[in-house]
Amino acid sequence: MQLPFDNSYARLPDRFFARLAPTPVAAPRLLKLNLPLAQELGLDPAWLASDEGVEVLAGNRVPEGSEPLAQAYAGHQFGGFVPQLGDGRAILLGEVVARDGMRRDIQLKGSGPTPFSRRGDGRAALGPVLREYVVSEAMHALGIPTTRSLAAVATGEAVYRETALPGAVLTRVAASHIRVGTFQYFAARQDLDGLRMLADHAVARHDPQAAGAPNPYRALLEGVVARQAALVARWMLVGFIHGVMNTDNTTVSGETIDFGPCAFLDAYHPGQVFSSIDHQGRYAFGNQPRIALWNLTRLAETLLPLLAAEEAAAIEVAQEVLAGFAPRFEAAWLGGLVRKVGLEAVQEGDGDLLEDLLLRMAENEADFTLTFRSLADAAAGPGGEAAVRALFKDPAAFDAWAPRWRARLAQEGRAPEAVRAAMRAVNPAFIPRNHQVERVIAAAVQGDDLAPFEALLAVLARPFDDQPGAADYALPPQPEERVLATFCGT
Ligand code: AMP
Ligand code: MG
Repeated sequence: MQLPFDNSYARLPDRFFARLAPTPVAAPRLLKLNLPLAQELGLDPAWLASDEGVEVLAGNRVPEGSEPLAQAYAGHQFGGFVPQLGDGRAILLGEVVARDGMRRDIQLKGSGPTPFSRRGDGRAALGPVLREYVVSEAMHALGIPTTRSLAAVATGEAVYRETALPGAVLTRVAASHIRVGTFQYFAARQDLDGLRMLADHAVARHDPQAAGAPNPYRALLEGVVARQAALVARWMLVGFIHGVMNTDNTTVSGETIDFGPCAFLDAYHPGQVFSSIDHQGRYAFGNQPRIALWNLTRLAETLLPLLAAEEAAAIEVAQEVLAGFAPRFEAAWLGGLVRKVGLEAVQEGDGDLLEDLLLRMAENEADFTLTFRSLADAAAGPGGEAAVRALFKDPAAFDAWAPRWRARLAQEGRAPEAVRAAMRAVNPAFIPRNHQVERVIAAAVQGDDLAPFEALLAVLARPFDDQPGAADYALPPQPEERVLATFCGT
């Protein structure tokens, strides 16, 4: 077996999915293969890149050991419940156990219609496939839990959106594809057996220690709450806006999933929205923790029948667990911010100090990434301050804050060079800036040129290293380069 499948989801009852193979495409062509990821998964990159391997990655050949299926799920989209969504353009080929001992889903995205496609064509356009590839791999390099991209294959077929676009298939790798919406699917059908089997499967995969807890389903909910609180804090500490935090795009594993209209902040503003369809700002940068808790509350509701025999007692358990979200998020967010400005431990008053900085950044349209990265140089000595000041429309706004920060650094008393090194290890120089992502997509889609995509990937693989030849990639967009809206890319 070239892909050593060890499938567990396919063992669940038939109502969890539809069994079907991917729909073959006209002319598969490998665009990108992720060699390090293939190795982590214990897969042979040479085979994956062979004609046979590319046929598998395109969905033209079902490999030995695969039990292809489209998963059923439901979900709240922008607050409105849709009882049936499901994999409308994805096929789970199966699971492999990676070198680290962790089980990973291997899924094709853009692999043709399924019973869950509704009015969609089951396909993906090249642009959104490359966007997911770049951004998911950048997230991984930043150390943030995420689904990953093993390969991108051109289909040789057109997909029709507003215009005809080149089609592609992404091979996505995930700890699982179990979503809050998967639980909602069974809860909406009052399928208690299905719900329990799903919960047991999730426990086995993501919270094995919960199996021995007095109340395993409570422990599962605690695990999801903890992972999502940590995840959203991690996103925000690098300026990431997911853009479409629907419950069907919220994993139980705590991995980031579905890189549709996502974007990274250039200038900091808590109200920032890029998604063209997020008219109310529901998924704005600063709203993400509230939305995560809202999504987790939907998960808790589905679990009520499992949490206790009596509903009142179950609600009490759910509320207790959900109450853990805010302190976990706050600790991860403030702890992370404090490290971003070079402090080791949170002290009273640090919340004010950091809020004051963020307020001044917002008022002065300071670039989020560059402010923290250049602050590291300022930590090494006052000579480094010029670059930070220049990021503020009114540099005096930074000057008024800096002495408070310096006083706090002095109180910790670490050597300036040690502070600088610690700051550079948590404040990336390189993030997938929207204008760069759009630029490399345009080169691939319009000019069939993947060199800019490869170059951007190489830079983003080392986000915390200075890369002298890549200085341009660290810069915010010029006014004419600025990306004002991002799209779902379905
Ligand atoms: P998303 O907004 O990408 O998370 O997708 C929401 C739902 O729409 C999921 O059920 C997807 O499978 C489905 N979907 C998105 N794009 C397509 C497409 N091109 N064809 C079929 N289903 C799709
Ligand atoms: Mg989705």
